[in-house]
Amino acid sequence: MIRIESGPWHAMLAHAVETYPNECCGAMLGVADGEAKTVSEALRLENAFAGAQAARYELRPEDLMAADSAARKRNLDLIGIYHSHPDCDAYFSATDLKNSCPWYSFVVLSIQKGEFNHANSWLPNVDQTAAAKEELSY
Ligand SMILES: [Zn+2]
Repeated sequence: MIRIESGPWHAMLAHAVETYPNECCGAMLGVADGEAKTVSEALRLENAFAGAQAARYELRPEDLMAADSAARKRNLDLIGIYHSHPDCDAYFSATDLKNSCPWYSFVVLSIQKGEFNHANSWLPNVDQTAAAKEELSY
């Protein structure tokens, strides 16, 4: 399960609402105690997708590496990635699955008409063929 503390949670919501109607993306830093993860910081990352960003996001590998070292400097780990789905449910799409990594939690925020609607966290399998829903609290 993954728990997002109030500070990072509101930062993620604000980011998703500001970026609407495009997708936002960012990193979640925190601590993982086995399967119990706590997010204590959210780091905005740039959506590097060159085309229409209303239904796509792309992270640069170097931005992800920078987020990972930022986490280490704070004695935290990079435990997941978040992104938004403007006017779309918080499901894990085929593209999301293709671009995923099995060792991260993927939080998807559904923003409907510019406002937060719901969120889900996903755990992709190693083959990137399916993602299981992870218990999410915030
Ligand atoms: Zn997505």
